[in-house]
Amino acid sequence: MSVKVMGTGVRGRDIVDPEVLTHDPLKAAEAVKKQALAMGADFVGIGNIERWAGAPTQMDPKQIMPECKSIICMGFRVMRGSLRGIEEGTYFSNYSAMGYGGITYLYMPMTVINLSKYIEDRGYEAIPMGHQSDWRAIDNVGYLRKGGSRPVAPGRAAPDVMIQLRIAAYLCGCGEIGMSKMFLSPQYGPRNRVGIILTDVELAPDPIYNGPKLCNKCGACAAACPGQAFDKNKTIKVNLGGNEVEWWDIDCQKCGTSFVGSQVTDEPLTEEQQYNGPGTKPGEWSPFTKKPKNLYNTGQAVCGARGCTRACMISLEARGVLENKFRDKFRRRKQWSVDWNEEPVYPADAMFYNEVAVKEAD
Ligand code: SF4
Ligand code: SF4
Repeated sequence: MSVKVMGTGVRGRDIVDPEVLTHDPLKAAEAVKKQALAMGADFVGIGNIERWAGAPTQMDPKQIMPECKSIICMGFRVMRGSLRGIEEGTYFSNYSAMGYGGITYLYMPMTVINLSKYIEDRGYEAIPMGHQSDWRAIDNVGYLRKGGSRPVAPGRAAPDVMIQLRIAAYLCGCGEIGMSKMFLSPQYGPRNRVGIILTDVELAPDPIYNGPKLCNKCGACAAACPGQAFDKNKTIKVNLGGNEVEWWDIDCQKCGTSFVGSQVTDEPLTEEQQYNGPGTKPGEWSPFTKKPKNLYNTGQAVCGARGCTRACMISLEARGVLENKFRDKFRRRKQWSVDWNEEPVYPADAMFYNEVAVKEAD
């Protein structure tokens, strides 16, 4: 049978197999996963809503969609090549633009929305979620933001509820959460962005990941983090879908400072010397004099995920546990660092703006 849905374009869209999501959760899950991959996801997994039982109210999918039965998680790889320019110290914006912000704000939402259309064309509701709401009521630790929002009625969360995407990826069976608190997929390790769909379709869930162990607590992430954001003496343990999962405590404020390339200092600085506001100078992991501007709303990742992503990826690749294999190892030269006390040495053929020469040429 084929039906035509109007209102979705000039000619409408032919709906093949309109009942595919209705009778058999296993067949419905197969159909949804096939579509997700065809639409551009690199991997896909499904969790049933029961796995979110006991979630904090501010992170509970049922607060958003009380009839939610399933959560679909789609993973999108960050290209290893998008980290190359930072590794070489010559090209930083690609990771933010194409590997981080671009996936989060452009490529992923398109795919997540298209799969949501597939579901809604078959009579079920789908909420596409490609990134965390900037309106979320809680901070990175989980505390309610001061001066934020209020619940609209007793028993409801304060808007916006935040579904933890890494936890969703875990509960949908897509991989592990490492000691870095990064989500690790068996395909790409830490090189992922994930998007989810909440839906009232009943879909057969995937098992929680129990493939080859990815995180071996090697500590490379913590050792290479320029902001010393990890506290290896403090482990956070949570119960996710009946499984105990742990990670090292992370100081998000320290990460937030170092992530953009800045270092906190009590040295007196002129406004010209400030990297990212008062009390900050460029760290040795940033070659920029000033913090570069944001790309796609966020993602000014000057640190280039030096610890949490690059160091972890190198460690996982060396152990041969990732499915995405490369002919050559990622780190090919000694890791660079900038000595801001030394005068820079520019290429011999670099051209400098010379006011006098420009006037003479005029
Ligand atoms: S770097 Fe090592 S300890 Fe850190 S998340 Fe990766 S595998 Fe785990
Ligand atoms: S993004 Fe950079 S500063 Fe933040 S945890 Fe990762 S390595 Fe550390």
